[in-house]
Amino acid sequence: LETKTVSLMRLLGVAFPGAKELEEWEREQEEARRRDHRRIGKDQELFFFSDISPGSCFFLPKGAYIYNTLTDFIKSEYQKRGFTEVVTPTLYSTALWERSGHWEHYSENMFTVTSEGSQTYALKPMNCPAHCLMFEHRIRSWRELPLRWADFGALHRNELSGALGGLTRVRRFCQDDAHIFCTPDQIVSCLDFVRSVYQVFGFTFQCLLSTRPTPCLGEPEQWDNAEEQLERSLQHFGERWEVNPGDGAFYGPKIDIQIKDAIGRQHQCATIQLDFQLPIRFDLQYVGKDGQSHRPVMIHRAVLGSLERMIAILAENFGGKWPLWLSPAQIMVIPVGGSSESYAKQVVQQLSQCGFMVDMNEDLGATLNKKIRSAQLAQYNYIFVVGEQESETGTVNVRTRRGKQLGRRTLEEVMAALTKLRDTRSNLDEF
Ligand SMILES: [Zn+2]
Repeated sequence: LETKTVSLMRLLGVAFPGAKELEEWEREQEEARRRDHRRIGKDQELFFFSDISPGSCFFLPKGAYIYNTLTDFIKSEYQKRGFTEVVTPTLYSTALWERSGHWEHYSENMFTVTSEGSQTYALKPMNCPAHCLMFEHRIRSWRELPLRWADFGALHRNELSGALGGLTRVRRFCQDDAHIFCTPDQIVSCLDFVRSVYQVFGFTFQCLLSTRPTPCLGEPEQWDNAEEQLERSLQHFGERWEVNPGDGAFYGPKIDIQIKDAIGRQHQCATIQLDFQLPIRFDLQYVGKDGQSHRPVMIHRAVLGSLERMIAILAENFGGKWPLWLSPAQIMVIPVGGSSESYAKQVVQQLSQCGFMVDMNEDLGATLNKKIRSAQLAQYNYIFVVGEQESETGTVNVRTRRGKQLGRRTLEEVMAALTKLRDTRSNLDEF
């Protein structure tokens, strides 16, 4: 109700000095409407929502392709950076949530399930407690640290149904979540990881170092040490950053990364959060070089944040014009003339064997121009027209979705160029 009043007041407050300003405002509104991820999701058949499971997205094949491609991207970074993946349960007895503190502070946001009479379980809203259980599963040595565990497990949070909206506010989601267990001297910031992912999307960003609030838990020397290490890593990193005094969590300092998208909007997705408290709650220990027990530091970090929300941000950032590597509609093959159809099918087969998302327009009724136009509207990155001449010479006639004609090329040449564009995650449209 409150939101409605606010938006009504804002509408009444919009005044334009002249026709030019009004036009500008209308253009911006139209642009925002055109880029709305809910609209793109519907037009491109990426996903939908249903009242049968409010706030939980149904990703159709094309949406799932984007989802999985993003996940694969992060997984390939994990491999380079010493992260290993773990798989953990979704349901846990409330005994775990009591131990982690979630039951006391967060239970109204959790979905619970009862089973076998009186036993209550809750769907996990985050992965951290499960990873603590894994850490304490056996005695840990300093030699194993830092441990970097990544988890793409599905998370559930009970957002009020009135607050749900598209992919930006959901009940079921998945993060590129990972926890690092390390010694106090090993505190790392993962900032390089963040940069190499955001560069691919073309996002610019700035970092905020949030320091200790009052009150906070933990020893002052521990905070001094952690804040110093984070500050040093930010200086070393060389990107723009600021201190956000007193805005850290009560359990540790953090670095928030704010991105700026193609239309100048800011989002906060990545976070690197130090945690001194959860290791205490779970009484986590490792055996140090000195043979004594020590408390590890835990770092929560995510780069994309929630995959659902990141897909919304990317859809609006690209305005539905996905770069080739992320595009669920990469190539449309259009045969011209009956005899070229079997060659077109062969082209489709070769491309899909190389992992490309390729379709063929077999509609006999429509004109060539109409087929090209509809493939462009559906945001296919490339359109291959094949006729008799192409089938005789093993070539395809290439156009981009922006209407640029790249002309006749051999299929081998095109496949090599597209493979390179895809595998380097290039944002270029031509080759
Ligand atoms: Zn966590």
